[in-house]
Amino acid sequence: MQEEDLLGLTEVAATAGVTKQVVANWRHRDASFPAPVAELAAGPVFNSSQIRSYLARWRRKGLHMAHVISTINLKGGVGKTTITVGLAEILAAEWGRKVLVIDLDPQTNATVALLGEERWEQLNEKGHTLHSLFADAIEEDPAKRTFDLASTLQREASPTEAARGNIHLLPSSLDLIDVQDRLASMPSGRFYSNNPTDLLNRATRPIIDEYDWVIIDCPPNLGIITLNGLRISEGFIIPTIPDVMSTYGIPQILQRISAFAGEVGQYIHPFGIVVSKYRAQATEHQVHVDALRRKAGYPPVFDAMIPETNELSAAAAAVYRSTLRQRWGGRVGFPALDALGEELVAAVEDE
Ligand code: ADP
Ligand code: MG
Repeated sequence: MQEEDLLGLTEVAATAGVTKQVVANWRHRDASFPAPVAELAAGPVFNSSQIRSYLARWRRKGLHMAHVISTINLKGGVGKTTITVGLAEILAAEWGRKVLVIDLDPQTNATVALLGEERWEQLNEKGHTLHSLFADAIEEDPAKRTFDLASTLQREASPTEAARGNIHLLPSSLDLIDVQDRLASMPSGRFYSNNPTDLLNRATRPIIDEYDWVIIDCPPNLGIITLNGLRISEGFIIPTIPDVMSTYGIPQILQRISAFAGEVGQYIHPFGIVVSKYRAQATEHQVHVDALRRKAGYPPVFDAMIPETNELSAAAAAVYRSTLRQRWGGRVGFPALDALGEELVAAVEDE
């Protein structure tokens, strides 16, 4: 065999446009990844044509090995962020999964709950948030584009000792509000190659398979920023308070996401509805949960419901805790999130 037919791990990563860690994960998790033709002192080497056909298949499928889930509701204040952050910490600490949280909401609540105000303000001042990614897309002068994935990606992104080693975050910024509307009119590129809903996909492709799970906290609308999140998602969950106002938009969410998925040629699975801020004593809540469970055409309602508690409310602030029980409440909050995590892992990882 000719020497130029062999590729080392670094070259495989460069050819694929991903990090070396991603290639290591592919090897580890995907039985169809080509076996090395030799193990040299410098590491394994692969047959380049086998690698090329593996990568061609990977690109064609456009699929990630990481499980990517969006958290959506058209209404604010229904527990989207609390559930996003709670699930991320459960998956990281209890399940040992490597988790990336992507905060797409200009309200930056997930960012603040994970990093704290101070760390977030520093990043925001330096432009190390997802605002830069989207602002670059409408910036015509290449010299003024500033997004840098490596400095935006935050490691150890959790105040909970038990979870922080496994959580990374792409932080949000209040400035995202300004950019949202202008994205619709972004320049389409020389060959109409720029799609405003594909920006997050392109930016995260080099790293997405470094993770087992990616959870995306979306703003309460189905605008272009949210569509960027859905574009890389295999599915979504709908957190909702069990009342009329909070569940009102569910049919619209289901219908619009399915239309978008069809348009971009992918399938985005409605994994389920998560009942949040549940008050077992409130008759209105009981009645509404029953109605949700019986509603034809709706995704399943997860058995685990997230009750309304002081500890869950306090988790909006990033206060150092050593365990998940301390952070989310050992009696009610943690067990509820833990049960939800178990159902979600079963639904997503075993599909
Ligand atoms: P969203 O992301 O949908 O806007 P949040 O998760 O930010 O909703 O929740 C809105 C507010 O309600 C926040 O102040 C949050 O701390 C609080 N909250 C969320 N879930 C609960 C809960 N289960 N119990 C008590 N307070 C909660
Ligand atoms: Mg939120």
